[in-house]
Amino acid sequence: MTVICWFRRVLRLDDHPALVAAAQDGPVIPLVILDGAEARNHPASAQRQAMALPALEAALQARGSRLVVRRGDPATVLAQVIRDSGALAVHASEGMPFARDQGLHDAVAAGGARLHLHPLADLVPRGRVLTKGGTPFKVFTPFWRALRRTDIAEPLPAPRLRAPDTWPGSDGPDWPEARAAMNRGWPVVARHVQAGEAAAHARLDAFLKRVTAGYAEARDRPAKGDATSGLSDALAVGEISARRVWHRALRAQDQGRGGIEDFLRELAWREFARELFHAAPDMDRTCWRPEWNDFPWQGDGPDAEAWRQGRTGVAMVDAGMREMFATGRMHNRVRMIAASFLVKHLMIDWRVGLDWFARCLTDWDAASNAMNWQWVAGCGPDASPFFRVFNPDGQAGKFDARRLYRDHWLQGDGARDFARAAPRSWGSDPGRRPAPLVDLDQGRRRALAAYRGFARKDAAAL
Ligand SMILES: Cc1cc2nc3c(=O)[nH]c(=O)nc-3n(C[C@H](O)[C@H](O)[C@H](O)COP(=O)(O)OP(=O)(O)OC[C@H]3O[C@@H](n4cnc5c(N)ncnc54)[C@H](O)[C@@H]3O)c2cc1C
Repeated sequence: MTVICWFRRVLRLDDHPALVAAAQDGPVIPLVILDGAEARNHPASAQRQAMALPALEAALQARGSRLVVRRGDPATVLAQVIRDSGALAVHASEGMPFARDQGLHDAVAAGGARLHLHPLADLVPRGRVLTKGGTPFKVFTPFWRALRRTDIAEPLPAPRLRAPDTWPGSDGPDWPEARAAMNRGWPVVARHVQAGEAAAHARLDAFLKRVTAGYAEARDRPAKGDATSGLSDALAVGEISARRVWHRALRAQDQGRGGIEDFLRELAWREFARELFHAAPDMDRTCWRPEWNDFPWQGDGPDAEAWRQGRTGVAMVDAGMREMFATGRMHNRVRMIAASFLVKHLMIDWRVGLDWFARCLTDWDAASNAMNWQWVAGCGPDASPFFRVFNPDGQAGKFDARRLYRDHWLQGDGARDFARAAPRSWGSDPGRRPAPLVDLDQGRRRALAAYRGFARKDAAAL
């Protein structure tokens, strides 16, 4: 019985539960679907996925298999490939958020096959780590303690694959909608991507060789490029599983490496985001604490556009926004500063920022993005309180004391890269520094005044 394995943001052979199950069922047709809507909404992530495909194709060919790539709406494509191949089953990983998969079962059944959805090879299956009362954790630290006490399953080895007698046609790995959406950004961002499963493993190995007890402190300094693993994009497109990273890190810890416990804790934040998203699948659109939906956020407009284009006049914020546009990534500390500036100093709705990050990040992950934006905005579970307003200049002085990061993105090679990637309509002049959109002290006072007017309601709901 020929079966389809739909590679859905799990662009690897190692530790891939859906692929293992498919291989047990019969000859496998590995399928990737390039959905135009995804390319339009998440261009950088789509580019990152497109760049992963040649390596995936080569890995499959080395095992006597192939990669079938089709473009279009997933439900329609699945029905077509089932028809073309006579496959009786489709194995795939659960989507995220999990609740949005319902229509796919019907589409696959209409084609005459069955859809089997498998867990994503996260650290733990959803529902495994719960409070004593049997409910999902809403606070990170107790979640982390409980996770650390839990046995994390060993990763699954890549299975042997049998080829079907005939192969359905493939559209090839090019993704024109992603190229069009990235426009001038594509070649600039491409230089910052190391794609493929083997590259992800190599990056992990290199990180585990260099990480030290100083990791927790060094990871806050944006100019120190190699302080962190740089694995978030590989994890986001599924070139490596969180379980694989976890177990390798534990091995390094056994061999005496420092900093591993803090690194595992970061992986746990990713897992926590997934738990939260599972419990609240609309977390990317709705405040976790519903009373925050009444906060007097400002909508989209010229200030938000200046933020997106990296011309707020606040150096650390603009440097970060430029870094993200030109590389598809932004340093974690700078993400917090840029996000905080948008929601607090400019009082703009966190969803405006979330949507922009979701367009620009090669490591875009629906759960991590939503959790972190709600954390910064103060409306999420276990969030940073709204009244704690980061001063972007103070943060810059502390974490970029020698200005290396800001200088790179505001006047160095980074500034030139940004100008090459930015749409011509932005008229970006790499060297020009605009006046600040808002006086930092005034912006802070405005945010706190708005918060005071709202706080009684928030406190009553706690
Ligand atoms: C506003 C905002 C939006 C964000 N959006 C995303 C997103 O869309 N996708 C994404 O992967 N990360 C997101 N992050 C988290 C974080 O910035 C990146 O995961 C981080 O920059 C990854 O760098 P690294 O892989 O070198 O990290 P390392 O320090 O090497 O950490 C190892 C891994 O832990 C996970 N991790 C680390 N920090 C966090 C965190 N705060 N939340 C969740 N997981 C974490 C990542 O998977 C990371 O690869 C966001 C953070 C903020 C403040």
